[in-house]
Amino acid sequence: MFAMGVPHVVVVGGGITGLAAAYYLQRLQQQAGTPLRITLLEAQHRLGGKVETVQHEGFLLDTGPDSFLTLKPWALQLCRELGMEAQLLSPSARQFFLLIGGRLHAVPHELVSLVPTRPQALWRATFLSLLGKLRASMEGLVPAQRNQEDEALGAFLRRRFGKEFAMRFAEPLMAGIHAGHPDRLSMAAVYPMYWEMERRYGSITRGLIHLRRQRQKDGAPRDASPFMALRDGMGSLINRLQQRLRGVDVMLSTPVAGIDLLPDGSLHLRLEQGEPLHAHAVILTVPAYTAAKWLQPLSETAARLLHAIPYASTAVVSLAYRRQAVGHPLEGSGFLVPRTEPVGITGCTWSSSKWEGRAPADHVLLRVFIGYAGADQMVEQQWDELLARVAHDALCPLLDIREQPLFAQVHRWLKAMPQYEVGHLARLRQLEEALSAYPMLLLAGSAYRGVGIPDCIRQGKEAADRAWQYLLRQ
Ligand SMILES: Cc1cc2nc3c(=O)[nH]c(=O)nc-3n(C[C@H](O)[C@H](O)[C@H](O)COP(=O)(O)OP(=O)(O)OC[C@H]3O[C@@H](n4cnc5c(N)ncnc54)[C@H](O)[C@@H]3O)c2cc1C
Repeated sequence: MFAMGVPHVVVVGGGITGLAAAYYLQRLQQQAGTPLRITLLEAQHRLGGKVETVQHEGFLLDTGPDSFLTLKPWALQLCRELGMEAQLLSPSARQFFLLIGGRLHAVPHELVSLVPTRPQALWRATFLSLLGKLRASMEGLVPAQRNQEDEALGAFLRRRFGKEFAMRFAEPLMAGIHAGHPDRLSMAAVYPMYWEMERRYGSITRGLIHLRRQRQKDGAPRDASPFMALRDGMGSLINRLQQRLRGVDVMLSTPVAGIDLLPDGSLHLRLEQGEPLHAHAVILTVPAYTAAKWLQPLSETAARLLHAIPYASTAVVSLAYRRQAVGHPLEGSGFLVPRTEPVGITGCTWSSSKWEGRAPADHVLLRVFIGYAGADQMVEQQWDELLARVAHDALCPLLDIREQPLFAQVHRWLKAMPQYEVGHLARLRQLEEALSAYPMLLLAGSAYRGVGIPDCIRQGKEAADRAWQYLLRQ
């Protein structure tokens, strides 16, 4: 089927994007019944990249992502394809809180989509003034700005919902996931659905009313949580993928050092150690700043655009306590912290309340987040002990904690969260243009079109399809 004999595709990076790319390539190869050599190169001694689950003293710790969104179907689909139905776990608690003025306020769950299904929900919020609520409830009357190509998340939210609602509630809810600064994140890239709603329906309120009617017509369950976790942690998805990659040569502890394009259009992957690998197509799922270095000799423009994608560092501090050491009932999934609260943390997930099986009986597991774009020096410079102390000290007064943690595990994710800044989509278009002369080189992963697990899986799958199509054309 391939004119070139047995082609070789190399996937660089064994995070969820690279694993998905290798898995879907293997599937294309199996369906076509054509010989194809697939190699996956990973610098670390383990697969998964930012996805990792650790067992510690009877606790189950997801050190990076702990769940995925099901509204974007690709992660759920992959779990089902891999026979992981029985592993899927819905949250046991959905109530979450907001830290305002040093106090935790319950957030009516209808507010999660910004415009509540029932208007009363906004009026129940204790973290907004009367004026703030009035202003937010008038979002449907704010004239639409349809001509702008992009806008910062913070500016968009303040313009549509007013300053108080934006800063106290919407920004921590929407920027927190990206460890991003609201005044730099691109609304068009990070929340395209809301961005488009203003354009199509004139307001988020009208857009959401339309969307809800549509979902009702489609018979979607009304109040189901849009998030799912895995019973044995997100790492079990990595393990299952690894087991299924029987037709893929997986090489761990094999950092790539660079790429050379050969005159016949094939590629040489230079490894830190050993002989270079020859490939007919390469899928790069490494961070954009690493891809930038490798692509510099091929396209200065592509390298410059890739370098322009900044990364933030964050830390996840997992803290374990005896249940009786924590006075707070912990009835909920955790809390978010707006930038205006001076506590040094950006949020906390009450893991043992939110997901089944995270802690032994009579114990609790809490996950605290530290650092976001522009405020990540502490994560980059401080000792683990200090980060653990900051997390514990922030929680003590809020959750009435009376003992030291049984253990604290700090996981630093340095330069790990790509920031889709204003103009991100325009930069991606220029990048595609700059690389259009190199169809044998494909980029995929969290730096480009979605940081969440479902989007990474989709991008891995799309890269596999494009590599396959490229090989067919040769
Ligand atoms: C703390 C945290 C919490 C998160 N929470 C969630 C969540 O709850 N839900 C959600 O959907 N998403 C979440 N995310 C986002 C999501 O986890 C990531 O965007 C996603 O896992 C990135 O996958 P990736 O494969 O694109 O990149 P990575 O996981 O970064 O994989 C890239 C791989 O490339 C390898 N590599 C790098 N350089 C080389 C080299 N020279 N040679 C060979 N290999 C190399 C790396 O070792 C790594 O394994 C979270 C992220 C973080 C950091």
